[in-house]
Amino acid sequence: MKRYKTKPPEILYENPPSEEFNRAIESFFCHGSCRGHCDICGREFLNDDKFWSFDENEVEEFKKNAKKYPGWYIITDYSLPIADNLFGVTTVVGCPCNGIRKFEEILWHYRSLIARYFEGRLQAQEESVKQNRKIVEQCKGIDKI
Ligand SMILES: [Zn+2]
Repeated sequence: MKRYKTKPPEILYENPPSEEFNRAIESFFCHGSCRGHCDICGREFLNDDKFWSFDENEVEEFKKNAKKYPGWYIITDYSLPIADNLFGVTTVVGCPCNGIRKFEEILWHYRSLIARYFEGRLQAQEESVKQNRKIVEQCKGIDKI
């Protein structure tokens, strides 16, 4: 990926992900961090609050890069919500590229297929539970003999 060019990374989707999707992602996939990277667009993030511990000159280097490569390095005043391994990528929720929107659109587009898959899988598991319960009940009878 060409990260070190002066042109800022593109915005992939004009519309950001919905608040509902961001909340769901933050609830299930996120952890807070002082550093973040978006695998989707390549932007780097840093929250320079004093309570984080950084390597020597880490913040200064980041700030130099932010001046040298505008748009690629973003300094925030909040803990970064990092989404790890979201469909195979790590990203920062709220990245200006709006790349997470892609996943929301895929999930929404295939919601009927996903719902049918869940239903089928649960039915298969219920059948397995019934058969295992039957085996357990048969074994109880053996103990009484
Ligand atoms: Zn991004």
